[in-house]
Amino acid sequence: MSKYENVPYKIYLSEDEIPKEWYNIRADMKNKPAPLIHPGTLQPLKFEDMQPIFCDELIRQELNNEDALIPIPEEVRNFYKMYRPSPLVHATFLEKALDTPAHIFYKFEGNNTSGSHKLNSAIAQAYYAKKQGLKGVTTETGAGQWGTALSMACAYFGLDLKVYMVKVSYEQKPFRREVMRTYGAEVTPSPSMDTNIGRKINEEFPGTTGSLGCAISEAVEVATSTPGYRYELGSVLNQVLLHQSIIGLETKTACDKYGIKPDIIIGCAGGGSNLGGLISPFMGEKLRGEADYRIIAVEPASCPSFTRGKYVYDFCDTGKVCPMAKMYTLGHDFIPSANHAGGLRYHGMSSILSQLYHDGYMEARAVEQTSVFEAAELFARVEGTLPAPESSHAIRAAIDEALKCKETGEEKTIIFGLTGTGYFDLTAYESFNNGTMTDYIPTDEDLAKGFASIPELNI
Ligand SMILES: *Cc1c(COP(=O)(O)O)cnc(C)c1O
Repeated sequence: MSKYENVPYKIYLSEDEIPKEWYNIRADMKNKPAPLIHPGTLQPLKFEDMQPIFCDELIRQELNNEDALIPIPEEVRNFYKMYRPSPLVHATFLEKALDTPAHIFYKFEGNNTSGSHKLNSAIAQAYYAKKQGLKGVTTETGAGQWGTALSMACAYFGLDLKVYMVKVSYEQKPFRREVMRTYGAEVTPSPSMDTNIGRKINEEFPGTTGSLGCAISEAVEVATSTPGYRYELGSVLNQVLLHQSIIGLETKTACDKYGIKPDIIIGCAGGGSNLGGLISPFMGEKLRGEADYRIIAVEPASCPSFTRGKYVYDFCDTGKVCPMAKMYTLGHDFIPSANHAGGLRYHGMSSILSQLYHDGYMEARAVEQTSVFEAAELFARVEGTLPAPESSHAIRAAIDEALKCKETGEEKTIIFGLTGTGYFDLTAYESFNNGTMTDYIPTDEDLAKGFASIPELNI
């Protein structure tokens, strides 16, 4: 008899069990994440320095390393009720297909129109912008999930939204664009000719298909030069990990309620927000010495920030208009190969996760594209849900760990984050199905080009 015999296939918490506070992992970190610094003075950014870019309350959250619990505003919690609590699913069909003694659970965040966990932070960020009396916000989007999430959130609070969408996605994902426009956002392909930085990048790299770093520069330029606007970012920042802690808090509640004790927690890592959110209460226990878990970040072999990057201060964007962050980075000029199908293309990584990884609290591994889609295909066929390519990195690692258990006979419990659905990624699925998908792994020389763009700071 399985030790989780009494756990339902899908655990749904009640509305009352939606957390009332976010959990701020920084409060329990002995080594705090390195602060954002000003590229000119190299001094840590103060509240006033960030005010032209971000909303006031979000800056306070960004700088708050002390308070473990931060109340979720009632308005945000009301919005959460539209699609939360999200289910924790016992992947018994996958376990059976793998014939493994391991127990596999996944927290499913794709159950909303934006199709990913990004809505958890989007609604919080839109709320604080509205509360501050702003007219609108700007942002960038790569694969499009963040832009969609923020469009939904801005529509809800009646804010204007200008989205700079990485050109290659803008062209490959016209339907994503139309969802954003339906929710009222103005969508511009990046690099555009509307901004100084966009014109400069277009001149320097004619025909470029853009990058996240470049779209960020454009969005920040527009926010800081338009009265009544601020900029919002969907990953990487401390505040985003804070909002995403709702994923981990709900997971923890479900685990405690049903006696589920994870040995391994796995998440895909782009900028680190879903992983940071999923692991936060578990990592908190680990940091306080109350429990131990193996925590694994999974990234694409084509954009290997953790596994092959450097832990240094670097710019967060190509145009160098943003502050600098200390993080695992491939260099702000790194542009992942165009044949890389999924998301997770950002050159850097959350400062919080970078510090935790550096201090040995978590592991990282890089996986290749076709093996990710093989995992996605199996998952879709046995568990029913068509996973996002990003999420499928976590599926790959979960399957690999479960297969190891099959060899050793260990009955480990694995939880992974299924961050979203793949309905807008069918071009990538098409190339997988046609057998034309390739595995690009940058050579050391390729990476050296990106590293060369990292400034030497002596700090
Ligand atoms: C954006 C996104 C990711 C990666 O971003 P993180 O900040 O690393 O979580 C993963 N999965 C999906 C579905 C996404 O939309």
